[in-house]
Amino acid sequence: MSLLIVLLLVISGLYLIANIGQDYNIYLGPKNLEECCSNNTPISITKPWSQTIGNQRTAIILGKLSGQTTLNKTSEQVYDDILNASNFYSFNNFLQESSYNNLWLTGNVYGWFEIDTGDPQNFVNAADPFIDFTKIDRLILVNPVPNSSYSLGAGSATPQPFYTQEGIRNLVLTRIGFYTNDPWLFGSSDLSRRVAIEYGQDYNLLSHEFGHSLKLSHPGIVHCPNNQIISINMQNCLLLETENVDQVGIGTGHYNSFFKESMGWFKPSNIKEISETGEYTLKPLEVKTNDIQVLKVPRVTCPVTQNYSDPCGGDGKGWYYIEFRRNIGHDKGLFKNTALEFNGVEIRIDGYSNYPTAQIESQLLDMEPPFWNSNHTLQPGKTFVEPFNNLSITTLEISDQYAKVRVVFP
Ligand SMILES: [Zn+2]
Repeated sequence: MSLLIVLLLVISGLYLIANIGQDYNIYLGPKNLEECCSNNTPISITKPWSQTIGNQRTAIILGKLSGQTTLNKTSEQVYDDILNASNFYSFNNFLQESSYNNLWLTGNVYGWFEIDTGDPQNFVNAADPFIDFTKIDRLILVNPVPNSSYSLGAGSATPQPFYTQEGIRNLVLTRIGFYTNDPWLFGSSDLSRRVAIEYGQDYNLLSHEFGHSLKLSHPGIVHCPNNQIISINMQNCLLLETENVDQVGIGTGHYNSFFKESMGWFKPSNIKEISETGEYTLKPLEVKTNDIQVLKVPRVTCPVTQNYSDPCGGDGKGWYYIEFRRNIGHDKGLFKNTALEFNGVEIRIDGYSNYPTAQIESQLLDMEPPFWNSNHTLQPGKTFVEPFNNLSITTLEISDQYAKVRVVFP
C-alpha cells in the first residue's frame, strides 16, 4: 500500500450516526492500552452470535438525498455486485468463500428512492411498501456521497430497531456511502469486489463495513523491537489500529483466522491446539478443507472477564493464531502489490480490543521489522521466541499447497 493511500486512510473521517453504531477512525497512532488490564466489568457474551451463520435475509435499499444524483448503477447491477453469488466479484461470493459456505445472503435490491435525510429509518420508510420486514434479518443501505472527500460507512454490531408496516423490527444494519467522483479509493464507487481483487487496491468498503456488523473491530498490528514482547501490556511495542491484510483492516483479503473461529466458520478439524513439541502442517486459509488451517499456540491465561479488551479477549485463554495465505480466490488482491509478501506464515493474537463490550479484535504480530516493511510473515528459517512460556515457533517450509511449522515447548 502506498504511503499516499495510507495517509488518505489516516485522514478518512469518522462516520457517526445516532443509534446505528459507527465506523471508527482509521489511524496509525498508538492504541491506548492503559485500561486494558484493569476495570474489567463482566458482561454477558454469547458467541458465535446468530448473525454469523446461515442464510441472512437481506434487503438492499438504494437511496439518494433530494437533489443529488444516484450512482451510475441500476438496481439490477447492484444485485449483481452484491447478492449474485455466482458472480465471482460479488460480495456474496466473498462471504461464502471466506465463511466456507457457512454464511450467505439472499434477498433483493430496492430503489433508487429519493429520501429527505440520511437517517436509516427514512430508507426503510421509502422501501416499506415493497418489503415484508418479517422476512428480513439485515439491511444494507447504499447512498452516494457526492459532496464528500471520501467514502464512508458503518456497521451495527447488534440489531437495531426500525419502525415498519409490520411493526418494530430489529435488523442488523450495514451502510455504505460512496464518494462518486473517486472510482479508486476506499473500495471504489464500483460496488463489486473487482478493484480489490484485480488491482489489490484498498479494502472493499462493503466487505469492511459488513465485518463491523459481524461484531469485528479493526484488526490491529503490533510492532515490537526485534520481535521481542516483554510484557503482557506490550509496553515496548507499538500497536496500530489497522493491519493491511484483513478486510476489516485496510487489506483486501479474507477475514483472519481468529475472526473466522469466532464466527463459527471452521470445522473442529481445521483448528489444532498445540500442546507439545512437534512439526505441524497448515493448509491455505482460503480453501474449504477438512485439514488444519489454524495452529493455536498457548500464550497467556487470564481471569475470565468476558471483556474483549483484556489480553485474552475475555474468555480466559490467550493464543497465538498461526495461518497461511496463498494467491487464491478473494485473497488474490493481496498478492498484486509487490510490497506485500506472503512468503511465510502470519501470527496473530486475540484480545486488546478497543471496544471491550462490543467488538472482538485481533492483533497481527509484525515478524519482519522495521514497521514500515509491509512483510509481516514469519519466513522459512526464521524463529519467533515468545516471552510468556518460552515457546519457539519456526517456519520450516512453504509451498503453494502448505506451510510446515515447528513449535518447540521448553
Ligand atoms: Zn471500519
